[in-house]
Amino acid sequence: MTEGMDFSLSDYQQDLIRNMENFARKEMAPLAYELDRDSKFSMELWGKMGELGLPGLTIPEQYGGSGMGALDSCLCLQGLGRGGGDTGTNLSLGAHITIANMPIVLFGTEAQKQKYLPRMATGEWIGGMGLTEPGAGSDAGALQTRAERRGDHYVLNGTKMFITNGPTGTVFIVMARTDKNSKGSRGVSAFIVEKDFPGFAVGKKLEKMGNRASPTSELIFEDCLVPVGNIIASEGEGFTKVGQGALEWERVVQMGFWLGTMEYSLELSIEYSRQRVQFKKPICEFQAIRHKLAMMKLDIDATALLVYRAAYLKDLNRWSDTEASIAKLYLSQAIMRNVTEAVQIHGGYGLMKEYAVERNFRDAKLTEVGGGTSEIQKDIIARNILKK
Ligand SMILES: Cc1cc2nc3c(=O)[nH]c(=O)nc-3n(C[C@H](O)[C@H](O)[C@H](O)COP(=O)(O)OP(=O)(O)OC[C@H]3O[C@@H](n4cnc5c(N)ncnc54)[C@H](O)[C@@H]3O)c2cc1C
Repeated sequence: MTEGMDFSLSDYQQDLIRNMENFARKEMAPLAYELDRDSKFSMELWGKMGELGLPGLTIPEQYGGSGMGALDSCLCLQGLGRGGGDTGTNLSLGAHITIANMPIVLFGTEAQKQKYLPRMATGEWIGGMGLTEPGAGSDAGALQTRAERRGDHYVLNGTKMFITNGPTGTVFIVMARTDKNSKGSRGVSAFIVEKDFPGFAVGKKLEKMGNRASPTSELIFEDCLVPVGNIIASEGEGFTKVGQGALEWERVVQMGFWLGTMEYSLELSIEYSRQRVQFKKPICEFQAIRHKLAMMKLDIDATALLVYRAAYLKDLNRWSDTEASIAKLYLSQAIMRNVTEAVQIHGGYGLMKEYAVERNFRDAKLTEVGGGTSEIQKDIIARNILKK
């Protein structure tokens, strides 16, 4: 073996995936159809995930979490996807453990950690992050939400858009401009906002094509009073430090459950192609179908290597947005191929709601839009390779 090129997961890591997969098969997959149909986030399921410690994966043990790194957290989510856990619930979990928990873990004061992390670790408090606005998506630096200091409080005004866990969340990390003369990513600060703070309101739940179990909404701030003790890091560091730090975690960890979803989709396609008989043969005996299955497997393995590499670099503190963007972009393209072929293999049944491949087909589109669109990932990769 070439030194330094061991691609295997440890026994511990394989157990992590297997345990999560077993949980998902038993507790999540049976609910997936109903949660999607009713666009429902199940608090009962969330409670079971809490008992397993899932909401606290990335929170240090001293605050009640498991203190896992990026790769191990990613593997846990992969197991949930592989076992047929619905992507909506997984998306809500992923947002909670990365963009809600991590800003406090990485940059919070001791008082903030003690107040928020133990209850976020158990899942009693669900978290989210408000960065995107109606007029600021890919160009997040164009955000217009303002925070003005008045005595012991900041006063927030503005609206956030497409916020995962908006309707269910208790704690939100909110980006707002504190320096009104600043432009772009400078002059923006991060705040911990609780749902009961005066002047804070949650907009109506948004109806989505996929990931429907994950509740999404606007967040509205009208003279919302946030204690000065709830700023994370210093004024002006919200975007450049807190936001970036959390989004790095989001990118690598969230990819885990999408990778697992690709594996589940292949498993369903293999099963179906074995039992579906046409022209007196199981359709898996037709080369056209066999090649689809082979290409799905190829995409899964290539995606896994890229995702694991990005997460591994994160754990080594050698974060590289080139490698993360390559993984995210490849995963998005690969999963779109995967879900398309899964439906095709299922023929007409693949278009029917009771088949999970129909749901996966709708869910997967988010990978090309959320957490930075594919166009933006290409821009990041191109910018970085042109710099060299
Ligand atoms: C289900 C869901 C959950 C989400 N959860 C959260 C959340 O929890 N918190 C949060 O803050 N945000 C969240 N988002 C927002 C998400 O991050 C944004 O949707 C995403 O960043 C894209 O922004 P946009 O939708 O405004 O699209 P736009 O930025 O308006 O893009 C529209 C199109 O133009 C393209 N485009 C834009 N700029 C360029 C450019 N410079 N070059 C080439 N093409 C370009 C885009 O690639 C895209 O194809 C969520 C979104 C969804 C759909």
